[in-house]
Amino acid sequence: MGAYEFVDHDHDVVVVGAGGSGLRATLGMAEHGLRTACITKVFPTRSHTVAAQGGIAASLGNMGEDHWHWHLYDTVKGSDWLGDVDAMEYLAQEAPKAVYELEHYGVPFSRTEDGKIYQRPFGGHTTQFGEGSPVQRTCAAADRTGHAILHTLYGQSLKQKAEFYIEYFAIDLIMSEDGACQGVLAWNLDDGTIHRFRAKIVVLATGGYGRAYFSATSAHTCTGDGNGMVARAGLPLQDMEFVQFHPTGIYGAGVLITEGARGEGGYLTNSEGERFMERYAPTYKDLASRDVVSRCMTLEIREGRGVGGEKDHLYLYLNHLPPDVLAERLPGISESAKIFAGVDVTREPIPVLPTVHYNMGGIPTNYWGEALNPAADDPDAIQPGLMAVGEAGCASVHGANRLGSNSLIDLVVFGRAAAIRASKIVDPRESPPDLNLSSVEASMDRFDRIRYADGSASTAELRLEMQKSMQRDAAVFRSDATLAQGVKRMTEIASQMADLKTVDRSLIWNSDLMESLELDNLVPNAMATIVSAEARKESRGAHAQEDYPDRDDGNWRKHTLAWVDGPEVRLEYRPVHTETLTSPSEGGIDLEKIAPKARVY
Ligand SMILES: Cc1cc2nc3c(=O)[nH]c(=O)nc-3n(C[C@H](O)[C@H](O)[C@H](O)COP(=O)(O)OP(=O)(O)OC[C@H]3O[C@@H](n4cnc5c(N)ncnc54)[C@H](O)[C@@H]3O)c2cc1C
Repeated sequence: MGAYEFVDHDHDVVVVGAGGSGLRATLGMAEHGLRTACITKVFPTRSHTVAAQGGIAASLGNMGEDHWHWHLYDTVKGSDWLGDVDAMEYLAQEAPKAVYELEHYGVPFSRTEDGKIYQRPFGGHTTQFGEGSPVQRTCAAADRTGHAILHTLYGQSLKQKAEFYIEYFAIDLIMSEDGACQGVLAWNLDDGTIHRFRAKIVVLATGGYGRAYFSATSAHTCTGDGNGMVARAGLPLQDMEFVQFHPTGIYGAGVLITEGARGEGGYLTNSEGERFMERYAPTYKDLASRDVVSRCMTLEIREGRGVGGEKDHLYLYLNHLPPDVLAERLPGISESAKIFAGVDVTREPIPVLPTVHYNMGGIPTNYWGEALNPAADDPDAIQPGLMAVGEAGCASVHGANRLGSNSLIDLVVFGRAAAIRASKIVDPRESPPDLNLSSVEASMDRFDRIRYADGSASTAELRLEMQKSMQRDAAVFRSDATLAQGVKRMTEIASQMADLKTVDRSLIWNSDLMESLELDNLVPNAMATIVSAEARKESRGAHAQEDYPDRDDGNWRKHTLAWVDGPEVRLEYRPVHTETLTSPSEGGIDLEKIAPKARVY
């Protein structure tokens, strides 16, 4: 076993993660005068946010009439009435402000003729409470919006003197005897030192866990580390059964073709050359929301109308669009199609397939980003010392299904909200509490167990088994049978973690150890997902249960909470927030407008 010496640090706030949400929180915290550190396992501008193509939603109304009430309505409907109304209202109302802030920080948005921020149509974004035409609400910097945002926020954070700990791998939260979060333990990948960060608030901004699946658009670094840390701290994860499949991953490679491609006029066809979405979603067609389009594509393939030798995918056509539009608005995806499918988009269709893309579930929070530790008598109880933002968090603004371009706006609105809240609750003059050394010890024991693991199952083998099982059993369509099989398989895999084998014992650039720690984080994410999915006996948003094809608001309009402990998962539920923050007389939306109804596009 290793004997470790620790390098100690003190900060007001430690943010784990330097994607869009982590950087926006870091920047805001530093602007508010808090001593802020940002820890990240990859260089900030390599975070998965860099890959976001299509854009960021806000009702600026630059390309035609728009209103934040319409954005709120679309988000509520997109969530299939599972999102928390107060958080969704905060998102829709604050979105324009957050985008203008980005503009002033220096994000190079594409422009209209008269110099305003360019906005494109995206799935599920409409006018007149779903009665009008699609709206152009998604602000874009060509098809490299995430790239532009990330570089700008990193530069601004440096300017505000936030301290960065780059290529540090956060291992675990440090928790006090009475359950408050006191800081975080991290491993410096470059020199092998172990660091104890004390903080009055830890913000988890560690992103999603797409890599629990075999085919995902997300980076290999998207391993749900923050969710794993939270599960080990004895805190719950929320709504993990809701996993978004993006309709257009490139067949085989899984690389994303942005929904912006359909926003700019692209459309899907089957083996008969039919634009099949017209049949399923007569009003919004290819711009229906993602869960809907992914299900329709899966049905087309099942019914034998897929394309290619194995009839197992579909085509996305862009070649009717003017080449200058493709070059100006979609240069990145033209390149991806060439590299990953060998296709020239000005002449041929792109072979596509629904691919895992986004995790609606995560660490439950309120709309200030404060993590929750719900109790039976207080479902909104706040977890002291901990916040969560971005894809790792679940506020919940996406409910059972996220609308395209609503994640980037979630990152900046709630990254900013967390900073506003922290500036009110953190007193920079107060000294931080003494660290609970037994919490540190327990985490280092786990670290050692993995570092010296000498069982018979390699990390790569176990990971592949998990990914295949999740891909097969918790797919676009689920049933009692597939989910029961999935729970059985995942429980076995989680138990096998005790039999893990690692080979490299060093602490310097040890990718074997890092991938094993990541797997130890992915497994609780996968467990929470499959067990929560098996329990939910209805279909809602991305959870399409074939044995229960209808949404059941009476029994199931509630958030799932999952406590994961190794192969064991305990479930409970908490109510959805259905009240708005502002009354109609103060300019808020009329509750009747967003009352549950059938979800058709
Ligand atoms: C290909 C692709 C395209 C997308 N396009 C769009 C789009 O156009 N519009 C939209 O709204 N959404 C889009 N999304 C979704 C959106 O981009 C993501 O949900 C969002 O970027 C996630 O941001 P984040 O800040 O939560 O985390 P990420 O950007 O994933 O960053 C996670 C951060 O956490 C750090 N981290 C993780 N674990 C640890 C650890 N153990 N120790 C230290 N650091 C750690 C990483 O280093 C990284 O800095 C897209 C997603 C993908 C995959």
